[in-house]
Amino acid sequence: MNPAVTGVTKLGDNEDMGFRLPDAPSDWGNDFFKLGTNFFTELRPTPLPAPYWVGLNTALAQDLGWWETPDHPTEEALALQVFTGNALLPGMQPLASVYSGHQFGVWAGQLGDGRAILLGTTASGQEIQLKGSGPTPYSRRADGRAVLRSSIREFLASEAMHALGVPTSRALCVTGSDTPVRRETLETAAVVTRVAPSFLRFGHFEHFAAQGPANDGGGWRNLERLLAFSLKAYFPECDATELPPAQQATQLLQAVTLRTARLLAHWQAVGFCHGVMNTDNMSLLGLTLDYGPFQFLDGFVPDHVCNHSDSHGRYAFDQQARVAHWNLYRLARALMPLLQDPDSAQTALTEFQPAFEAHYGRLMRAKLGWRQAHEGDGVLMQALLDLMAAEATDYPIFWRRLSRAVAQAPSPEPLNELRDLFLDRARFDAWWASYQQLAGQNRPDGALMLATNPKFVLRNHLAEQAIQKAQAKDFSGVAELLSVLQTPFDEHPEWTHLADFPPAWATSIQISCSS
Ligand code: AMP
Ligand code: MG
Repeated sequence: MNPAVTGVTKLGDNEDMGFRLPDAPSDWGNDFFKLGTNFFTELRPTPLPAPYWVGLNTALAQDLGWWETPDHPTEEALALQVFTGNALLPGMQPLASVYSGHQFGVWAGQLGDGRAILLGTTASGQEIQLKGSGPTPYSRRADGRAVLRSSIREFLASEAMHALGVPTSRALCVTGSDTPVRRETLETAAVVTRVAPSFLRFGHFEHFAAQGPANDGGGWRNLERLLAFSLKAYFPECDATELPPAQQATQLLQAVTLRTARLLAHWQAVGFCHGVMNTDNMSLLGLTLDYGPFQFLDGFVPDHVCNHSDSHGRYAFDQQARVAHWNLYRLARALMPLLQDPDSAQTALTEFQPAFEAHYGRLMRAKLGWRQAHEGDGVLMQALLDLMAAEATDYPIFWRRLSRAVAQAPSPEPLNELRDLFLDRARFDAWWASYQQLAGQNRPDGALMLATNPKFVLRNHLAEQAIQKAQAKDFSGVAELLSVLQTPFDEHPEWTHLADFPPAWATSIQISCSS
C-alpha cells in the first residue's frame, strides 16, 4: 500500500481491507442526469498527471460499501485514478450543473459548477462529486482547479462537522498532483471527492426563476420541474407529489426554512463560521456546503469575520442566522412564479426565527448538561455568552473544561482549571453560583456534556500544520487529524496537544476566498 494510505488507516482499521469499486452500470442511479440538459453540461473531468493519495476516509468508503476485505486484489490504483478524474467507472455520467446566485448581497447572475463535476449517484442515493477536476462551461475564466491547502481544509472540516452531528456534505478522499496551480503564489493541484444526497443550492432555483416565463423548453417550466424533482427526491417530510405546483412550492419553502434554521443553530452552537454564505453556497437540503474560508472559533468573539475577503463583515459569526434568513427570502423570490399567493411564502419564512431559537436552545442546553428546558436557563446562557464575549474566552476549551468540572464534581481541580480561563474571577464565580443554583434542582448530566462538547476541534492552526506537512509530501498530519476529528469526544490522551490553546501565530493566519 501507498504510505499515505497506510497512514490514514492506522487507527484500528483492518489492514487487509481495501477498495472495491462498483463495476456495473446498474450500480449508478444518476438522478440529476435524468433532469435533462437544461440543468447541466455533460463533460469529463480533466486528467491530472501522476496523482497520489493525500487523505482517505475509510469510514465513509466503508459506508458506501466500497471498502471491503477483497476476494480479489484491492482496486486502490483504480480508485486513485477515478477520484482524481483520470478514469470513469461503468455507469458514471459526469456533468457540471448550472446555477446562479447572490454573492455578498448582490445578484451575480449565472454561476455553476466551475470546478466541480458530478460523477453519478450511487444506488444508495449518494452523489459523488469531484471538486477541482478541471474547467467547465461555468468556470468564468478561472482554472477549474483547487489547491492542496483548501482541499485538505474541506476534507477535514466536513468530516469534523459530521462527527459533531452537524448536517454536511462528506468527503471521501483528497488526491494531489504536482501540477502547478497559480493563486497568490504558485501552489499544487488537488481534488476532493465530496459525497452528499444532493448538491442542489438555493442558486439552482434562482437560476431558472431568472430566465423568465417563456424560454424555449425552459424558464419557469424548468423551475417547476426542479421543484417536483427536489421534493420527491430529498424531502420525504413533505409528501407533496400529488399537490399542484403552488402548494408544492410552499411546502418546499417551509421545509427548507426549517432545515436551514436547524443548520444555523448547529453552526452557532459548535462555533462554526462559514465565511461565504452566498446563495450559491446554500444547500437546498440544509447541509453545510462549500467549505472555503470557514473557521471554528478559537476565542468567543461574536462578531468574528473569518473570511479575509469579507471587508464589511457581512458574514460575521453573529450575522449568520440573519443572513440565512435573507438567503431564504431569495429562495422564496425564486419560487414566486409558482407560488401564486405571496402570503404563503411570507408565512413559511416567519417560521425561521422560532425554529432557529428552539433548536439553538436545545443544543446550548445540552452543552450545559440538560436535556430539558428549565426556568432561567436562557438567562443563564446569555450571562455566560456575555462573559465569554467580554474576555474572548476560548470557546472549545471552555465547554470541555465545564464538562469535566461537572462530570468530576466535587473534585476541585477541574473547576479550578475552568476558573483559570477567566480574568474577571468574580464575574465567573457569580455565573458559576447561578449555574449551581439551577443545577441544584436539575442535575446537569456530565456524560451528556462530554458527548456534546468536543475535546478536538479543527482550529485553523491545526489545519495549517497538517497543510504545511502535506506541502512537503508528509500526509501523516492529515491522517492524524482525520482520526481525531472523527472521534472528537474521546480523550485520546496521546493527542492532547491537539486540544491545546491556539499558538500566538494562529491569529496571523489569513483565510480568503482564494482556494
Ligand atoms: P465559491 O464561492 O468559492 O463557492 O465559488 C463561487 C463560484 O466560482 C462557483 O460557481 C465556483 O464554481 C466558481 N469557482 C471558484 N473557484 C473556481 C476555480 N478555480 N475555477 C473555476 N471556477 C471556480
Ligand atoms: Mg460555491
